[in-house]
Amino acid sequence: MAKVYLPSSLSAVFRIMSDEPSARLFAGGTDLMVRSSPQGTESPLVCLEGVGELRGIDESSGEVRIGAATTHGELISSSLIGDVFPVLGKAARHIGAPAVRNMGTIGGNICTASPAGDTLPALYILGAEVELRSPRGERRMPIDCFISGPGRTELRSGEVLCAVVIGKDHGFNFHHFEKVGQRKAMAISVASLAFAASIGADGTAAKARCAFGSVAPTVFTSRALDDCLAGNPMTKDVLARAAAIAREEVCPISDVRASEEYRRRVTGNLLMRLEGARKD
Ligand SMILES: Cc1cc2nc3c(=O)[nH]c(=O)nc-3n(C[C@H](O)[C@H](O)[C@H](O)COP(=O)(O)OP(=O)(O)OC[C@H]3O[C@@H](n4cnc5c(N)ncnc54)[C@H](O)[C@@H]3O)c2cc1C
Repeated sequence: MAKVYLPSSLSAVFRIMSDEPSARLFAGGTDLMVRSSPQGTESPLVCLEGVGELRGIDESSGEVRIGAATTHGELISSSLIGDVFPVLGKAARHIGAPAVRNMGTIGGNICTASPAGDTLPALYILGAEVELRSPRGERRMPIDCFISGPGRTELRSGEVLCAVVIGKDHGFNFHHFEKVGQRKAMAISVASLAFAASIGADGTAAKARCAFGSVAPTVFTSRALDDCLAGNPMTKDVLARAAAIAREEVCPISDVRASEEYRRRVTGNLLMRLEGARKD
């Protein structure tokens, strides 16, 4: 039976990590526990749930700081997230089911670095940065640099992901998230799209950002795709051009949930559906 530590401060976390170098961090445990062997793990576990510095959603000059141990449920019920980053709240709403949303955290979703992690495409289009701390100091890096591959991050030994920081001045007035899975709930995505744009009174998108989940080894973004949408109205013709680029550029795999061809088709369809989404 593994030893479980329940520290209440970051300094206590660092002390435990220094005394127990094999210790593993967990927040909600919804990924770590599922991936552990049925016999469990002998490595000590450090629970981050009670660490005050990792909790809460705070607004400061020009930025919002979301503590890494903030649950998906807390993101969904935050009026600040709903007002400033609706795409992130919408993405969190698609995760698992209430029990998973009440335990699973944004920090865990990021550190698991699954291509299907639902908060990730939203964080990419919002230009989020991660705040990393260790006894040696603090550093920040853009999320697309932090996630280096499927299940891989730039987290260093002894480091803790403390928060996600997002600038408020993104200028987007249309936010959308859609996920296609095998069921409506408790389903890992077959493909997902996070989309944000600043759309003028005449319907033209001055700028647009798209990010897809589950159709590449990490979140898929494309400059060519964003450029194709920028400066244009979101009409069927423009979206069809964007869909063709997306279907061409993504690199999905076939697995138990869907074939490569199906994922490619759905990627384009998710863009085509933006025309209807704007009218909702
Ligand atoms: C039934 C079920 C359904 C699910 N459905 C979905 C879904 O629809 N969409 C989706 O995206 N995910 C889904 N998940 C996966 C999971 O719930 C999420 O990825 C969740 O956000 C993980 O958060 P957690 O706090 O539970 O992570 P944990 O399991 O606690 O940790 C995951 C990993 O991150 C590390 N870690 C956690 N926090 C930190 C930190 N602050 N600093 C450094 N390392 C850290 C841990 O060491 C571990 O390696 C599902 C899981 C289950 C069991």
